[in-house]
Amino acid sequence: MANGQQPAFPGEQQAADAAIRLMHTLGLKPEPLNYAVWYTYSAGERLDLKAELDVYLKARKPISPAINEQIFAKYIADALAAVADSASRQKLDDANDRLAKTLNAVMGLVAAAGKSGDAFGQALTKFKSEITVVADPRIEAAITAMASEAEKMAALNTKLSSELAGASQDIASLKNDLDTIRQEAYTDGLTGVANRKAFNKRIDELTSAMRAKSGHLCLLLTDIDHFKKFNDTYGHLVGDRVIKTVAKTLARSVRDQDFVARYGGEEFAVLFPATRLTNAVAAADKIRAAVCAREMQNRDNWQNLGRITVSVGVAEFAIGEKIDDLIARADTALYLAKQTGRNRVCSQADLPKR
Ligand code: GH3
Ligand code: MG
Ligand code: MG
Repeated sequence: MANGQQPAFPGEQQAADAAIRLMHTLGLKPEPLNYAVWYTYSAGERLDLKAELDVYLKARKPISPAINEQIFAKYIADALAAVADSASRQKLDDANDRLAKTLNAVMGLVAAAGKSGDAFGQALTKFKSEITVVADPRIEAAITAMASEAEKMAALNTKLSSELAGASQDIASLKNDLDTIRQEAYTDGLTGVANRKAFNKRIDELTSAMRAKSGHLCLLLTDIDHFKKFNDTYGHLVGDRVIKTVAKTLARSVRDQDFVARYGGEEFAVLFPATRLTNAVAAADKIRAAVCAREMQNRDNWQNLGRITVSVGVAEFAIGEKIDDLIARADTALYLAKQTGRNRVCSQADLPKR
């Protein structure tokens, strides 16, 4: 109950509920005067009032606020006046005025339920404190019933709001997790550059785009020279750090639109969109020189590990060919670079014509 009390007699709550339902059906405003009339009607306390209103209801005539006022004046006002001396009457009038305002505010909030659970709760609290000053038990019972309904709605609204907020938080965190998982699925764990899967996706996208629209695309494949020996000398962990350093050097040496991926153990691939073979060969040599320029150091003991070199093969995509054929050409050029001394770049232009 809004005021923490039980109804004064059984049936009071039902009468109040019925009054609220009737008022709603008849489209009457939730005002104390209207409540007094329809509560009295529903409670069956005044048969003369009930008989008069039934005439309107049976004839399905609209019951205007003016009619309600007349009924109130005729059957209820006198009774009210009789129970109140002039001082308490004034108090009642004031309270009723404030109640009418608060009720309208509360009903407005009910209509807008879902928009602001907090504001609704505050209005309800204010409303509850005000109903305690009402002298007429019928009005109080009706208002108490409405307050109880409003309280239920407020609780439901608060629950819904918090469930909605919780659900949208869950969705946001799921989306974040998915983004992370997607990101991880395409990233090489050791070096942080794209992995083989991401490379396959990207080369597919770039070559497909070129099938629709002509252009130039080059592929670079690179492999660290004599890396087995390096691992054997310094150990696998130091070897891993060198792979990371090479990846960083590659990523720093290319343009934003170029795409660096770890292709295998100590092998990397770079895609150069909108690039002709001669320019790709120049970019490849810049990468080779940058790797070779770097003196490697074991950061655990500052031991000098010497220089690392890479061999590089470059090929240009021919529109219409299979991706595997492009990769095979770059790989053959890489093999040629290894065979002709390592720490060098060879391209498809260096391969014997078939
Ligand atoms: P080459 O100049 O002909 O390329 O000689 P290589 O010794 O580098 O020969 P190859 O490329 O065939 O050998 C690759 C070696 O790289 C084999 C393996 O021990 C090492 N390797 C591959 N993946 C990793 C890795 O993730 N971490 C480390 N530390 N070593 C790796
Ligand atoms: Mg290799
Ligand atoms: Mg190698």
